[in-house]
Amino acid sequence: MEFICLKCKTKERIPHEVVEFLDETDLIGVDTSISPRFDCQNCSGKMVPIYYIGINGKIYEYKED
Ligand SMILES: [Zn+2]
Repeated sequence: MEFICLKCKTKERIPHEVVEFLDETDLIGVDTSISPRFDCQNCSGKMVPIYYIGINGKIYEYKED
């Protein structure tokens, strides 16, 4: 799965299992309108999935501004 940093636009591939694990862990008491995200290695930004269907069936799609 490809993730992109909202700040510096760096792209990184993250294994699907890792994202699903994070998604599952996040389900309890967390706003599901927010996609799983990671800290960017290059800056202080957040990395979001470019396209991801969550385990709850929700589609998260990154849109360029
Ligand atoms: Zn970044």
